[in-house]
Amino acid sequence: MQQKQDEKVIKKMADLLRSGAQMLAETCPIHGVPLFKLKSGEIICPACGKGVLFAREGEETKVAGNVILNRLESVILTKIRLLTGLLEQESDIYKMHEYVKSLSSLIDVLSKIRSLSSK
Ligand SMILES: [Zn+2]
Repeated sequence: MQQKQDEKVIKKMADLLRSGAQMLAETCPIHGVPLFKLKSGEIICPACGKGVLFAREGEETKVAGNVILNRLESVILTKIRLLTGLLEQESDIYKMHEYVKSLSSLIDVLSKIRSLSSK
């Protein structure tokens, strides 16, 4: 699946270059692939396949960022739930300590995500 996706992106990049688009030093924050500047001046990501998110700095870029943050937040919450369950079952003091340390960093990340999202 991932492989196929990569091939699609590479093909799209080749198409863009052929059409005279310019490859930029900036990369897409979601896909990590180089962004392209079209002759029209529109900046697009070959993986997103559209210019909407990166056409302009500002609001739309923020939307893309929030999508990532929301996803990260739900992943972190899942891990916190998992670790909480493990901690509940654990009687080994050293393992408990490890779980608490992990939970503490997860909660740290979570509060950072939330402070970013609320901006
Ligand atoms: Zn992208």
